[in-house]
Amino acid sequence: MTTAGKLDTARLQALDAAHHLHPFTDHRELGGRGTRIIERAAGVYLWDSEGNRLLDGMAGLWCVNIGYGRSELADAAHRQMLELPYYNSFFQCTHPPAVELAHAIAEQAPAHMNHVFFTGSGSEANDTVLRMVRRYWDLQGQPLRKTVIGRTNGYHGSTVAGASLGGMGAMHEQGDLPIPGIAHIAQPYWYGEGGDMDEDEFGLWAARQLEAKILELGADRVAAFIAEPIQGAGGVIVPPATYWPEIQRIVDRYGILLVVDEVICGFGRTGEWFGSQYYNIRPDLMPIAKGMTSGYLPMGGVIVGERVARALIDEGGEFFHGYTYSGHPVAAAVALENLRILRDEGIVDYARNEAAPYLQKRIRELADHPLVGEVRGVGMLGAIELVKDRNTRERFPGKGAAGSLCRDLCIRNGLVMRAVGDSMIMSPPLVIEPQEIDELFDKAWRTLNMTAQQLG
Ligand code: PLP
Repeated sequence: MTTAGKLDTARLQALDAAHHLHPFTDHRELGGRGTRIIERAAGVYLWDSEGNRLLDGMAGLWCVNIGYGRSELADAAHRQMLELPYYNSFFQCTHPPAVELAHAIAEQAPAHMNHVFFTGSGSEANDTVLRMVRRYWDLQGQPLRKTVIGRTNGYHGSTVAGASLGGMGAMHEQGDLPIPGIAHIAQPYWYGEGGDMDEDEFGLWAARQLEAKILELGADRVAAFIAEPIQGAGGVIVPPATYWPEIQRIVDRYGILLVVDEVICGFGRTGEWFGSQYYNIRPDLMPIAKGMTSGYLPMGGVIVGERVARALIDEGGEFFHGYTYSGHPVAAAVALENLRILRDEGIVDYARNEAAPYLQKRIRELADHPLVGEVRGVGMLGAIELVKDRNTRERFPGKGAAGSLCRDLCIRNGLVMRAVGDSMIMSPPLVIEPQEIDELFDKAWRTLNMTAQQLG
């Protein structure tokens, strides 16, 4: 750590504090500490401006699926910028990268999901979902079918529609959300909310909340149900095995559209290309983003199934919706290269057959730690829930304080995990190697010991 390095950090932090408003940050909490400045990355590691090396247990924000530093993506962006840096896909135009990307995505998606509408992010994808769902029902001559049902603690982005479809209380409190026409049901969070029910029983109960809500609102008024296969930002909430089959039964029974938000689970995170394939769900719409480009450039989209695509194409006329950057050629070229790497290097297979089984084995060992009430996970997603008393599931006082402490100690130990309340979350790059998984869990165990010590 050089003096010059230190000065650089201080200067950057001062400028950051003076000019930069951060997403999801309480600026007062930064106090004299300043923001952490991440300067570079390679593989599964990050380096901050002080020269500290951190193992990125979160793949950025659940997105750097192929790991950092793949020059092929930079080359693809460079080539495409020289060839055609920008053109739009409005008004009967297209360009090769968007065409090829739509084709490549359709090849990996469930068979009936074979059209893609491109967006700039996952939030825009969910805004698109809301407009598309309502357009679909208008075209069916059922304009009263307006309401979309989401779940408490679900996350579908930060735009007005995304935050409304999501079920984050703190987001709803700011700015009069949700907007009208959106309802929420309970999440399938057995450890936290299952009461006396066993896991399978609770899974059925949680799924049947959907049926109850449909009946309460009137089946002819409900347009769609939206959910993440595994709730990510809500704390890696893995649904009981009974949950998704029952949801599928209910959406089929009432004919409502099923929107499966694949923004986190898509592109290999569960060990399958999409979470819908992992759970054997038949969605009508799948919002995507994140792993689509491994985060190297911003891009999202909605994969559209036959039912909605046929209505939009055959009956819909012009859909008055789209973004300047829908299908952006440079982002599309980067996404294509990312998909090629995921496929040709067998990264999704590696995640399914090697990395995920090992990650899940090692995370379950943390269940022996006295601070840990539950561990859960699927594929390359995991959560460790910290409790005061493992037997009674009593929480620590001060909502999320134990999690925040643990997260800060993690960073001191050279590991990035995220805290959601008192759950410690992990979602590393899919390419993480076994010895790096060992490093992750050695650091996590050491951090749990330090956290336990400090909590007394
Ligand atoms: N949907 C899910 C499931 C997400 O996890 C996120 C972001 O974390 C979004 C949507 C929003 O995506 P973005 O941040 O790209 O707008």
